[in-house]
Formats: sequence, structure tokens, C-alpha cells
Amino acid sequence: MALTGRIHSLESFGAVDGPGVRYVIFFQGCPLRCIYCHNPDTWPLKGGREVTVQELVEGLLPYRPFLRTGGVTLTGGEPLLQSAFVFELIRALHAEGFHTAIDTAGSIPLETCREAVDEADMLLLDIKALEPKLCRMISGSGGEHAKALLQHCEDTQKTVWLRHVVVPDYTLNYSKLADLADYLKGFSCIERVELLPFHQMGSYKWAAESLHYALQDKRTPTGEEMDEARRIFADAGLKVQ
Ligand code: SF4
Repeated sequence: MALTGRIHSLESFGAVDGPGVRYVIFFQGCPLRCIYCHNPDTWPLKGGREVTVQELVEGLLPYRPFLRTGGVTLTGGEPLLQSAFVFELIRALHAEGFHTAIDTAGSIPLETCREAVDEADMLLLDIKALEPKLCRMISGSGGEHAKALLQHCEDTQKTVWLRHVVVPDYTLNYSKLADLADYLKGFSCIERVELLPFHQMGSYKWAAESLHYALQDKRTPTGEEMDEARRIFADAGLKVQ
């Protein structure tokens, strides 16, 4: 019987999840509970739609002409929660000549997801916070698996675009950002850092899921604050956006 995975949805022309124009596959299921999550409807692994590798690959083949300079990004949810399926899917995508990226929060133990990670062309890795206590406050996890995954990417020289969400009263703290930049500058696998300003765009989904949204009174960082945050990373020698 064919291996199946569970997906939440598909997006034909993604422009913000990796290089170039990308076909984006949103996987169902995530073990984290980030306070600013835009996709709380992806959390339960039991939801979504069951699919086979063949079905997914056949569905995106018509878009091949548009994906020449981009590729396919697997996001979620947490795609690495379905590592065996992700591994098979990436192999099938490579057989068709597509560039592949996994967008992950590194929430899965490395021993469980190593094969899938090694198969992908690159990772978009979201580090929630450097300090375990703050990371737990933001996501429910101390972030140790994400750090182990980043170290594995360094050891194997897997290209990483590192992401970090800047939230007032949590991660919008120049001293904490400097500590993170100092930590990240030691990883030559990081091709760029993307600092993402918190915003309220996903809050309506929490209401739709009857979930309490703790950040309803939080503001978006100002342009000046984001400039200063980016300067800290640039000063550490990192390419930052
Ligand atoms: S890792 Fe992503 S999908 Fe999972 S809870 Fe956090 S923001 Fe949401």
C-alpha cells in the first residue's frame, strides 16, 4: 500500500518561502503551540486531507514552467512530523528535477527526521528564541531540537535560511537579538537571516478555532525597530533581510 501523508492545503505561487516562485505544500500537524501562530488550524495531525506522494507530484507538474527559478516548499504545520512521507516526497520531486525546501521549526528530534532533512536542498529554519525559557514561553518547547538540527546542517553544509519572529515584549529586545546574532554567526551553513516582524494577520484564525489568542494587544514592531534589529545581525556579519 502506498505511503500516505496528511496535508492542510496547497498554494500554487508562493513568493516568500524560499528562492524564486514556489509551489507550497502545507502539512497538517504541529507539536508546537506558538503564541503567534498563523496556522492554528494545522495543529491537529488528524485533520486535513490524506494524500499519496504520486498524487501530490502529479498535482504540481502543470506548474513546472513557473517553478524553474524556484521550486517546491514543504511547510505547515510541521512537515518533519511526517518525516517518512516527506523523505519519499522529496525523492519523487528530485526525480522530476524540482528544487526542494523544508520550512521547519525544528521541533522533531534529529534522529527521527535526519533522512528527510538530508534529502532536501535547503531548510528554512525558524528559531523561536535562543534562551530555553523564552522559547518555551513562545512555543511550548525549549528549542533543543532546533539547535541540534542547525548543528546538523552545519556538519553537512546544508543551506539554511534562518527565520526569527520579532515580537514586542518577547523577542524585540536588542540584547537578546545580539545574543542570537552572536550564536548564529558561527554557522557557515546560514545563507541568510530573515527577521519577521510580528503582526496580527493570523489572529482571526484563533477565533475561528475557539482558541484564546494571548497577543491580541501586541503591536507590530516599527520600521525603526526592525532596522535596528537587522543592523545587529548585519554587524555580526550575517546577511539579513
Ligand atoms: S511551529 Fe509554526 S505551525 Fe507550529 S505552532 Fe509554531 S508557528 Fe504554528
